[in-house]
Amino acid sequence: MKCPICGAAETRVIETRSSDEGRVNRRRRECPECSARFTTYERLEEKGYLWVVKKDGRREAFDRAKIIRGLQHACEKLPVALETLEEAADRIEERVRSTGQGEIPTAMIGEMAAEELRGINKVAYVRFASVYKEFTDISSFTHEIARLLDDKEAHRNG
Ligand SMILES: [Zn+2]
Repeated sequence: MKCPICGAAETRVIETRSSDEGRVNRRRRECPECSARFTTYERLEEKGYLWVVKKDGRREAFDRAKIIRGLQHACEKLPVALETLEEAADRIEERVRSTGQGEIPTAMIGEMAAEELRGINKVAYVRFASVYKEFTDISSFTHEIARLLDDKEAHRNG
């Protein structure tokens, strides 16, 4: 831990105290350069439990790996790096957690995944959307395709 006073790279721990049943460590530190004393806290990262609620009402624990598998499935045989999908999954998890809700409908996650794929690969997006958005009729599907093509035109012209 860097000294907040003089910026020295190394400081010494002179006392450690645990609290909250070992979930928090409070450390008293001293800088060998300027003798400043300060305190740092180390906390266990609290990732509150998050449930995903399916359409039939069943719940299961939020699973980042499952989201990545879904994205991978949509990107099969397409030139998309796993890293790109992992970043997308991170953003989805971040958004889901920032809602502050303990229960998230699968539809909401599907919507977020579709949005991510839209920016990653259009083919993957259409594949994914055709499953998750459950286009009820062919016109809503063609409407979506048309929207994509409009986007493409806009990029080409802009
Ligand atoms: Zn110092």
